[in-house]
Amino acid sequence: MIDVPSSPPTPRVIALANQKGGVGKTTTTINLGAALAEQKQRVLLIDLDPQGNASTGLGFFQGDRRTTAYDLLTLSAPLERCIAACRQEGLHLVAASADLAGLDTELIDDPQRAQRLGRALGRGHDAAVTRFDYVLLDCPPSLNILTVNAMTAADSVLVPLQCEFFALEGLSQLLATIKRVQQRLNPALAMEGILLTMYDRRNNLSAEVAMDVRENLGRQVYDTIIPRNVRLSEAPSHAAPVLTYDRDSAGALAYRKLAQEVLRRHGAASMAGA
Ligand code: ATP
Ligand code: MG
Repeated sequence: MIDVPSSPPTPRVIALANQKGGVGKTTTTINLGAALAEQKQRVLLIDLDPQGNASTGLGFFQGDRRTTAYDLLTLSAPLERCIAACRQEGLHLVAASADLAGLDTELIDDPQRAQRLGRALGRGHDAAVTRFDYVLLDCPPSLNILTVNAMTAADSVLVPLQCEFFALEGLSQLLATIKRVQQRLNPALAMEGILLTMYDRRNNLSAEVAMDVRENLGRQVYDTIIPRNVRLSEAPSHAAPVLTYDRDSAGALAYRKLAQEVLRRHGAASMAGA
């Protein structure tokens, strides 16, 4: 009989990164997370941005945040204590703290500062993390130590790209950072996918940019495109994902479709590896 090694169930950890500001990282973290939870996946979102937009967007305001991603990265609290349940079933959050902004200098003397999040998640060993199917890491608009920690702890990187004229500009810098992390810190880091966001179908430029991105990046680009949709920008002020704020809006439908595509890609990958 073949002895199959019993590897503990570990979640898929995905970093949502792009050093460009305002491209849809946080909107995608919240709504892809909510859409995966709707599909009965157990989802943990970790807000690594000192701006804390994912936290506020889910109704966790500065004053309510006790144990945060800052405690996680300074190794002063275990993951279990940092997790809070969101209103939606299956969705959990580690909130951000403004203190994260000082972490770059605080950790300057630690030669292993890039591995902090990976250690805190204790991949495969920490019971707190193994109860999730997906962990989504919302990165700040920078390639700083927070983003590098996310890429070091992650299985893959999902890159939201806004459908605008300069969409591809800056992407080479991001891809170079991913490569450096692969070479020095996390050889298994993969590209999860590139997501076109804020697509405006009344604007020819959006269609041209989408075509250009697909020509350059091929199959890495998701079939699903996120349209520009006002409901997506309103939802955070109602402390809810768009999927509950306006469940039939174009934004909600697009993120549901994206979740299905993500699940399908993983299903296909695990079948190919079987
Ligand atoms: P930052 O770099 O500052 O962290 P980000 O990449 O996380 O930004 P978001 O905060 O998700 O970007 O989005 C930027 C702004 O655009 C927000 O006000 C958000 O509500 C809005 N927005 C995001 N996606 C869409 C969309 N598809 N349609 C309309 N508005 C959107
Ligand atoms: Mg953000």
